[in-house]
Amino acid sequence: MAYRTVNPYTNEVEHEYQNNTAADIEAALSKGYQLYLHWRNGGELAERKEIITRLGQLLRQNKTKYAEIMTRDMGKLIGEAEGEVELCASFCDYYVKKADEFLAPRPIFTDSGNAYVLRQASGILMAVEPWNFPFYQIARVFIPNFLVGNPMILKDASNCPTSAQAFAELVTEAGAPAGSLTNLFISYDQVGQIIADPRVQGVCLTGSERGGQAVAKEAAVNLKKNTMELGGNDAFLVLPDADIDKLSKVIFSARLYNAGQVCTSSKRFILPDNLYDEFLKRAKQVFSSVKMGDPLDRQTTLAPMNSKRAKDKLQKQVNTAIEHGAKVYYGNQPVDLDGQFFMPTILTEITPDNPMFNQEMFGPVMAVYKYSHLKDGIALANNSSYGLGSTIFGEDIAQARRVASQIEAGMTWINSGWASLPELPFGGFKHSGYGRELANLGFGEFINEHLVYQPLEK
Ligand code: NAP
Repeated sequence: MAYRTVNPYTNEVEHEYQNNTAADIEAALSKGYQLYLHWRNGGELAERKEIITRLGQLLRQNKTKYAEIMTRDMGKLIGEAEGEVELCASFCDYYVKKADEFLAPRPIFTDSGNAYVLRQASGILMAVEPWNFPFYQIARVFIPNFLVGNPMILKDASNCPTSAQAFAELVTEAGAPAGSLTNLFISYDQVGQIIADPRVQGVCLTGSERGGQAVAKEAAVNLKKNTMELGGNDAFLVLPDADIDKLSKVIFSARLYNAGQVCTSSKRFILPDNLYDEFLKRAKQVFSSVKMGDPLDRQTTLAPMNSKRAKDKLQKQVNTAIEHGAKVYYGNQPVDLDGQFFMPTILTEITPDNPMFNQEMFGPVMAVYKYSHLKDGIALANNSSYGLGSTIFGEDIAQARRVASQIEAGMTWINSGWASLPELPFGGFKHSGYGRELANLGFGEFINEHLVYQPLEK
């Protein structure tokens, strides 16, 4: 596994990293385990909260510096990268405020005696993370688990190593002891070896279905608790009473933010007969007015994709869709720029027998569908092996909520594209994975819920 920063705008190799050795892995496990033993009974929570507070301050003070590192690693727009750094800082604020409440023992009401559940650290967490939000993905597992008392070993995507390294150094700068977060440049086999180690008690992965299956298998064989945040093919279901002007305003963020490389980007737009033609016109206006260029230039509105490999894969998927009957309503032309740009593309007429009907297209490609009766729109939204996020767009909020309750997804947004906030639990259903990150649910995923029970004396 080669860990390299290849700037997707210039195609230049900016950094290359040596892989870690077996001795580095043992040092990470040994330091992490000593910390876990030290923290297990809740000691030093006050100190850990101070460190996370400092982490938030450092993120805010150095927002542009960290944003640039991410932009060079995987090409995202500098403004979007700065927003990501801000979001990570908000996780620090939220969890510092909530840690005592989330870690407090939970009384159990039983008339048979006295019972309560301690919420305790469980051990080292092995985290495998992707490139699309290089800081956010690490932050949303590291921050809560550090407060719980679970040290973390990180294997980040091989194409954003500079971001992973920078995040780990930042954690050290904030005052965290060695072993709190160890970033390793390692192979898939080495990830498996770490998962098998008895000092590791949790495994989390954010990534593709394929990567998730491989890592979940290692976790299952070794009986390690795991969470999987996987891909999606999110439906954006428009109701017949939707306001097309309001809808037009969210098209960009719903589909083109981060060059369309968001797990919860809306990927399938499902329109009622009465709005289908007008929606296509509006979507074309949005897609044709993007400005591709240097992601460090604040005038650029559409970033390159993260790598040549990702761009080639998307092109292959679009070609397959077309070969099986999909129509190109807009786009799918070469882009005359050196970077890994993909022209925003709108596809229609993807039928259920098209191989792309049930595949995630992870880039600036929108698939648009039409329905006549709402029940068919809902059925289309649910006709996917994935179930990550979804959007319902309509003026009658009571109806939008009724429809939301019928969607097979881990998350539904009403009259908005996807969103992620520290207090909102994030996660999927079906092949989009299991478990949650963020909020109280994410905080609790790798806690040992330890029952203490004393029956009444008879
Ligand atoms: P990926 O190939 O699965 O990679 C994600 C991470 O898993 C990387 O660190 C990768 O390392 C590692 N990995 C892959 N196979 C592995 C194996 N067999 N053993 C150990 N580690 C392994 O995913 P991707 O295609 O780069 O990322 C995009 C996907 O992530 C999309 O499907 C997207 O929807 C999903 N995603 C989901 C969420 C969510 O919260 N649900 C959030 C963001 C992204 P290497 O880089 O070294 O291969």
